Amino acid sequence: MGEAPLKALPLTASIADVIASRLRDIPDFPVPGVVFKDFTPLLSDGPAFRAVVQEISSRYVGLVDVIVGIEARGFILGAAVAYELGVGFVPVRKAGKLPGETHSAEYQLEYGSAVIEVHVDAFPAGARVLVMDDVLATGGTAEATCELIERAGANIAAVEVVLELGFLNGRSKLSGRTVHAMLSL
Ligand code: AMP
Repeated sequence: MGEAPLKALPLTASIADVIASRLRDIPDFPVPGVVFKDFTPLLSDGPAFRAVVQEISSRYVGLVDVIVGIEARGFILGAAVAYELGVGFVPVRKAGKLPGETHSAEYQLEYGSAVIEVHVDAFPAGARVLVMDDVLATGGTAEATCELIERAGANIAAVEVVLELGFLNGRSKLSGRTVHAMLSL
């Protein structure tokens, strides 16, 4: 294998620095005017990906019963954190993907609208849930996800994202909830 300059994690780098150095901007994706924050370079860097997963997991030991990942990038992070914590993972998926009976919610995105679903029997009653996604933008996705989880009888412990686009003020849709971003722009 050749040299891979992104693979070395400086010992002094904060986790926010690590994330910032491994996100890239893709202008005009998926529609003109949106700058897409692509975190595939973070995922493809093993030590950086592991550091992020361990940092998130360390803050929720004993505090959550289930991790919810939002399709699709929330699946990658959420499943890794669930594995690390030894708790279950529940997917919140786009409409029509889950095979069982579902709750569904429509919401607005930074670029359009969408419907997401969760299985009605996904959670033990009162389960403490950590919601995970890559990016908090306008907050519509996370808000709809929290509502779905509560309709399914569980409680939101926190919403955790790798990156928050602070200028879109997604937190305003999540007032009263615990929201943590590893990096805010
Ligand atoms: P929102 O509902 O506006 O907070 O959008 C959050 C969801 O859309 C997340 O699942 C993100 O993966 C995705 N998303 C929205 N805007 C962006 C962006 N600028 N870059 C990357 N992903 C985004």
